[in-house]
Amino acid sequence: MTESYKIIDHNYDVVVMGAGGAGLRATLGTVEAGLKTACITKVFPTRSHTVAAQGGIGASLGNMSEDHWQWHMYDTVKGSDWLGDQDAIEYMCRNAVPAVHELEHYGMPFSRTEDGKIYQRPFGGHTRDHGKAPVERACAAADRTGHAMLHTLYQQCLKHKAEFFVEYIALDLIMDDDGSCKGLVAWDLDSGELHRFNAKMVILASGGYGRAFFSCTSAHTCTGDGHGMVARAGLGLQDMEFVQFHPTGIYGSGCLITEGARGEGGYLTNSEGERFMERYAPTVKDLASRDVVSRGMAQEIRDGRGVGEHGEYIHLHLEHLGSEVLWERLPGITETAKIFAGVDATKEPIPVLPTVHYNMGGIPTNYKGEVLRPTADNPNAIVPGLMAAGEAACVSVHGANRLGTNSLLDLVVFGRACGLHAAEVVDTKAPFKGLKTTDGEEAIARFDRLRWAKGSRPTADIRLEMQRVMQGNCGVFRTSEILKEGVGKLAETAKTLPDVGVSDRSLIWNSDLVETLELENLMTCAAATMNSAEARQESRGAHAHEDYPKRDDEVWMKHTIATVDTEKGYGVDLTYRPVNTFTLTDEVSYIEPKERVY
Ligand SMILES: Cc1cc2nc3c(=O)[nH]c(=O)nc-3n(C[C@H](O)[C@H](O)[C@H](O)COP(=O)(O)OP(=O)(O)OC[C@H]3O[C@@H](n4cnc5c(N)ncnc54)[C@H](O)[C@@H]3O)c2cc1C
Repeated sequence: MTESYKIIDHNYDVVVMGAGGAGLRATLGTVEAGLKTACITKVFPTRSHTVAAQGGIGASLGNMSEDHWQWHMYDTVKGSDWLGDQDAIEYMCRNAVPAVHELEHYGMPFSRTEDGKIYQRPFGGHTRDHGKAPVERACAAADRTGHAMLHTLYQQCLKHKAEFFVEYIALDLIMDDDGSCKGLVAWDLDSGELHRFNAKMVILASGGYGRAFFSCTSAHTCTGDGHGMVARAGLGLQDMEFVQFHPTGIYGSGCLITEGARGEGGYLTNSEGERFMERYAPTVKDLASRDVVSRGMAQEIRDGRGVGEHGEYIHLHLEHLGSEVLWERLPGITETAKIFAGVDATKEPIPVLPTVHYNMGGIPTNYKGEVLRPTADNPNAIVPGLMAAGEAACVSVHGANRLGTNSLLDLVVFGRACGLHAAEVVDTKAPFKGLKTTDGEEAIARFDRLRWAKGSRPTADIRLEMQRVMQGNCGVFRTSEILKEGVGKLAETAKTLPDVGVSDRSLIWNSDLVETLELENLMTCAAATMNSAEARQESRGAHAHEDYPKRDDEVWMKHTIATVDTEKGYGVDLTYRPVNTFTLTDEVSYIEPKERVY
């Protein structure tokens, strides 16, 4: 079979999959350290979803009012509903300030205060002195922070002469007999050739899988490809039941209105014109964390107080801020509201609805970026040669619920950590393990199978069915009955995957085949998410279970590890891993669990 494809082999110290914020920061770190690095990406680097991030990157610079990294850490632990690993959270919050200063020195065009400091705005869940009042912690470049960050990092990578393989689709990992990773197989869309990359270290930075759901804020490219590759290598995915719904996706299109809009003073109302968040989060109201606001909105709609003809949405008010503030601080979303909701935000409220926005779960790693393969004896055992960062990874700093601005931060802090760790463990002088002729065979067989797939169901049909099941049975409100039904329905859909039909057989720019490869990855993520959610009988962070409305630390303070059988009907095997209940240093102590109220 491999004979029918032209295969090109490469040797690199490091191969990074993905050129979003995490992939670019990791690439920059490894090239700076003198490691020969290939960055492989299916879209042009500056088209990665990071470009769409609006509101800001969190760091306790204290430019607008007093702030400390310990306060940031407290908020992150609380936001995570105590599922986050506190050693990793300490690492992230402590490194946030230097990380943002580093971006500033790289040339990132932040918005500025009158006296020239980086401008900061309040964001949901970020507070002063352990929950006393909202604090300005989100460092922003207007409402285009991700755009500014991604372009800055890309320029730095070019400056250091990083090598990019653009519009290459990574297909699968190449694993060695001893269980370590030694590279990956990729398909060059432009030439149609297949490439085998032999590497001493592979870093997965392939982003999230929002597209497993019907309505999401993320780009069409967010299809969990890294997750799928890891699952096909027999490794587990962590905490996949935790999916964040952003409170303010535009009704109908799902386009995001940043939380920064509420940070600047925007607020939500129901059909009675009531500012209902005062009932759900009396202290911080509209600036409570995302799961709390999303649930408040969903509750209003369920109770018949939704706005619109069918009572289906909620109103977001910005008009009182005045057009000057809107055009200066929130120009992007003012435009988005006009295009996607037909609303002039300076004059009238925007119709919004909770929309899938972020995946807290992913490829399990420790704070250095090393991928974990938990065993019964060692929950922190690693996979040599494999690291992960960004939304694809689950470090876990976000636990059961991520705070706004903590993802852009996660990208640069842990992208950098991957670079540092790779520089430490990769020996540039050591010989390469080398590739056997059989290496990558399974990846190519899978590719070939899908390329010639003659089944009766178009890719788009199976995908839509999967997305509907995920949206309907694994949404903001979950019950045992709904989830159980979801597991069954999803299994039925997954069963039809072998009957998929691809109509384009070519090797060049075959988007039909790309989408089919992506569909298998999405299905892997969907199966892990649905099954992990069905098993977790408690409510924690984004996982709100109506039959078990309380958090249950006795039984459920543990990470889910889902192993998906991608060969046989996407069955899922679940095991668990303890949460790290210790900090990295003794400068800060473990933050004990308590009830999460805002
Ligand atoms: C609309 C929106 C607004 C947001 N706003 C904020 C915010 O203000 N603050 C904040 O902290 N967070 C925000 N987030 C979240 C944050 O932006 C994302 O979590 C983060 O950008 C993900 O970055 P990443 O580097 O992990 O992945 P991405 O930026 O998604 O990049 C993934 C990369 O992987 C590559 N890739 C994927 N599959 C393959 C494959 N098979 N082969 C080769 N390459 C592949 C892609 O080409 C791409 O380069 C926002 C998210 C959205 C959707």
